[in-house]
Amino acid sequence: MSISRAQFLKSFGASVAGLAAGSGIASAAQALANKVATATPATAALPPVAGATPAAPVHFIGSGSGFGNRIAISFDDGPTPGVTEVVLDELKKRNIRSTFFMIGKRVVAAPDLAKRVLAEGHEVCNHTFNHLKLNSLPDQQVDWEIQKTQDTIGEVLNQKPAWLRPPYGAFRKNQMGIPVSKDLGVVFWSVDPRDWSQPGEAKIVDTILTETKPGSIILCHDLHKQTANCIGQVLDGLLARDFEFINMSEFLGQPFASRVA
Ligand SMILES: [Zn+2]
Repeated sequence: MSISRAQFLKSFGASVAGLAAGSGIASAAQALANKVATATPATAALPPVAGATPAAPVHFIGSGSGFGNRIAISFDDGPTPGVTEVVLDELKKRNIRSTFFMIGKRVVAAPDLAKRVLAEGHEVCNHTFNHLKLNSLPDQQVDWEIQKTQDTIGEVLNQKPAWLRPPYGAFRKNQMGIPVSKDLGVVFWSVDPRDWSQPGEAKIVDTILTETKPGSIILCHDLHKQTANCIGQVLDGLLARDFEFINMSEFLGQPFASRVA
């Protein structure tokens, strides 16, 4: 993490309150539309990034179809030595596949742990290199944050992520051309236990088990021990309700698959 805990909490609360309050594509899109309306035009004087022509229509995805009782559980902000291993062990015990939105600089710091995530059948996706609020950065820096992470994951894991999750859910629609130019879809979430704030294991479990329904994308973090300590209980509770766990690209498809060689 490149920012302090206080900054993290402050910016997170400010940026995704609208997203966390609702679920599904419509609410996520509306929250982002509102954000666009109030965003500071920090990039207005800067030249556009090459190839970053905004695509239309633009979709921000917050949940899947729910076909067949399917859900996706995802883990952001890792890999974190001492935490990610526990999460992986709990997933493996239950033969569950997940998606890990990794921070590029943390992949550099813990490459073997990142490799273990992939080797155990999970999907690795892009959560930028420094975990900054992209909606307040110039286009060139947004491009760098995303591309540097694509390159890092490519070098360490020989994988090309298909999905980007902007840190804090902070992203403007007029930035969408940047990930699109890299064949990346942008995905948010529909169930948020706010485990990053360490609300207590019982609260994390209760929020996820109460709010998850077919089609949910659950947001967790392999960042703190609270999440690791209770993730087995979460998974057992969801399995007891016959949810089927699949990773992000199985859930949503591969965005821009026709462009991938
Ligand atoms: Zn994050």
